[in-house]
Amino acid sequence: MVWGDSGMFVRAIQSDATVQSGVRALEAPLQFATGVGPQRARLFAKLGVATCGDMLNYYPRDYVQFQGHIRVSELRPGQHATVQGRIIQTRLIRRRPMRFEALLEEESGRCALIWFNRRDLSEKITLGISLRATGAVNIYNGRPQLLQPRFEPVDRDSAADAAPCLEPLYGAIADLPSGTIHRIIAGNLDRLLAHVAEWFEPAFLAERNLFTLRRALQQIHCPLDFIAVGQARRTLAYHEFFLYQLVVGIKRYHQRNLVGAMPLRTDDVVDARIRALLDFTLTAAQDRVIAQFRRDLAQNRPMNRLLQGDVGSGKTVVALYAMLLAVASGGQAAMLAPTEVLAEQHLLTLERYLSRSRVKIGLLTAGVTSAERRATLAGLADGALGILIGTHALLQDDIRFKKLALLVVDEQHKFGVRQRAVIRDRYAGVHTLIMTATPIPRTLAMTLFGDLDVSTIDELPPGRRPVATRAVAATRRAEVYEFVRGRLAQGRQAYVVAPAVDENTHELQNVVQLHRELQSLWLKDYRVGLLHGRMPGAQRRQVMDDFRSGRIHALVCTTVIEVGVDVPNATLMIVEHADHFGLAQLHQLRGRIGRGEHQSLCVLLSDQPADQSLSRLDAMVKYAGGFKIAEEDLKLRGMGELIGTRQSGHPDFHFTDLLFDPVLLPLARRDALAVVAADPHLIAPSHAVLRHEAVRRFGRAIALADVG
Ligand code: ADP
Ligand code: MG
Repeated sequence: MVWGDSGMFVRAIQSDATVQSGVRALEAPLQFATGVGPQRARLFAKLGVATCGDMLNYYPRDYVQFQGHIRVSELRPGQHATVQGRIIQTRLIRRRPMRFEALLEEESGRCALIWFNRRDLSEKITLGISLRATGAVNIYNGRPQLLQPRFEPVDRDSAADAAPCLEPLYGAIADLPSGTIHRIIAGNLDRLLAHVAEWFEPAFLAERNLFTLRRALQQIHCPLDFIAVGQARRTLAYHEFFLYQLVVGIKRYHQRNLVGAMPLRTDDVVDARIRALLDFTLTAAQDRVIAQFRRDLAQNRPMNRLLQGDVGSGKTVVALYAMLLAVASGGQAAMLAPTEVLAEQHLLTLERYLSRSRVKIGLLTAGVTSAERRATLAGLADGALGILIGTHALLQDDIRFKKLALLVVDEQHKFGVRQRAVIRDRYAGVHTLIMTATPIPRTLAMTLFGDLDVSTIDELPPGRRPVATRAVAATRRAEVYEFVRGRLAQGRQAYVVAPAVDENTHELQNVVQLHRELQSLWLKDYRVGLLHGRMPGAQRRQVMDDFRSGRIHALVCTTVIEVGVDVPNATLMIVEHADHFGLAQLHQLRGRIGRGEHQSLCVLLSDQPADQSLSRLDAMVKYAGGFKIAEEDLKLRGMGELIGTRQSGHPDFHFTDLLFDPVLLPLARRDALAVVAADPHLIAPSHAVLRHEAVRRFGRAIALADVG
């Protein structure tokens, strides 16, 4: 396809200069928007909204339909309804919680409207005005009430039914309710939209049954109806997916065509030397994956591979194999882990494998002392260290390798899309291996990680025993710990996992308290250790050592043990408040046991008597494999967790449900790759907007930033 002639993209109508002036308006601090002073700007900042452009992209979470109103006499408890009438009485009750009540009257009866902590309403809702109010209906002493209703004043003359309309609901905070957010956005919308640059020609979008960007933004905030909302969401999702695919595509183009990498030795001599370090035989699946590595790594183009495999399937060994190829070739390898605990764990594991080798390993995390850090940096620079393990501390600018040949990224879904892009940028020209124990459905992997080749280990090492799993109501805790005592008496060890230490979840039983309880009561004849992420590194290492050597019998911990810990004698895992964990996370946790000769058991304690929670945990009882559980988890919780959209305020994708749309993502990918094929540097004037957006959102992560 000849790009310039296709007419699909906005051409000269948006010169770079036009784009730039629009950009300035949208990047203006929010404070300059109508209805936003310094104080409101501070509140918006808490929602991650700092500029006028951010406000445009702060999308509603949901919408409610303002129904036509019904008669007060028809109100039924539990219903969600709208009434309309005149306010005949108001009162502010200052007792805590402070309450404002208004009595609404129409022909068929009276209805109380009640708000808590809304002193401000006594000025807005005054005697004699007419209101339309929507909320949950309650019947109190035979009288209907609406609790915390949303409301709008109505003109008494037009008291006839207003047409039903949609009200957007925004993620809000105490002093900045959804209604206020909506009013402010709606008040600025037209002015701001004028500055929004369209990415595509209207005809191109119409062909795909999508709105223009401006219309989509307009309709997402002030929709006509649910059909328009759907269209607006699809349009905005398409734009997000397109941009992401564009960046991924450009990256891949560069990797393939422009970036060279160090070809590694993959001969049989090296192969035999590495295998001799292991005291077991690799599984067929591991061998297959290694063959794929060897093919990639012998090239002078960077390998770009995703390695999937269930917890305990032996990914680490395979990664070590690749790292040793790098070292054997006179290069270095780095391994990036999402947490300090995991990085330390990898260090121990690799040191054990390499006990008979001369390869030196360094560790770089936020926890290492500055003296250690200096020594490590020196070792990296002069090549004394063959392998470096670290957290994102490893991405800092002052880190220089003598010759980095391979980067391994563990559990990469724990890094956000943008962070991943930074990793890729910093290490362009380096062979990259990404490992994950959270399998991603194939089609989604293709589209989300379109720049990666995929390897899968679909077989566990021999001798693995499936872990038996039980979901048990917390009311039976005494029995459970009695059982634990029995196992400890036989010489086994146990993990007791509880939700993290966190101010925001202080209502949860925290591990410190749980530890005290177990040590003084349930397991008082045994040594109980404590491990959580807020402990200093040295102390944590001591506890892990003690548990590994059996000096500690039971280990109370947060999910810091989720990945990487390996103690075969620990055959028991009790998860307290199991309802607070995601299924994928429980599966990872459970992977810590079942690693030795004895039958292992995982007990999930649920504090919710509700069948619902137990049935969720049932997926854990029923399925042993991570793929099946990941699927269930996806159904229950959506994609957010998986692809790192959690960072509040700046999610990578706003419309994660549409990632499952059979058409939209593949379409965006196809269209984006067509652009890459035609203009991989986005230098055509018609691509000025795309280029600007790509750089704005993904910055240095793509090579574009260097051009022009
Ligand atoms: P993963 O990283 O996929 O969770 P690991 O690499 O940590 O899995 O391996 C889990 C355990 O299995 C480790 O103790 C490792 O030494 C052992 N292991 C790996 N591969 C094999 C194999 N082929 N045979 C026996 N044990 C193995
Ligand atoms: Mg692992």
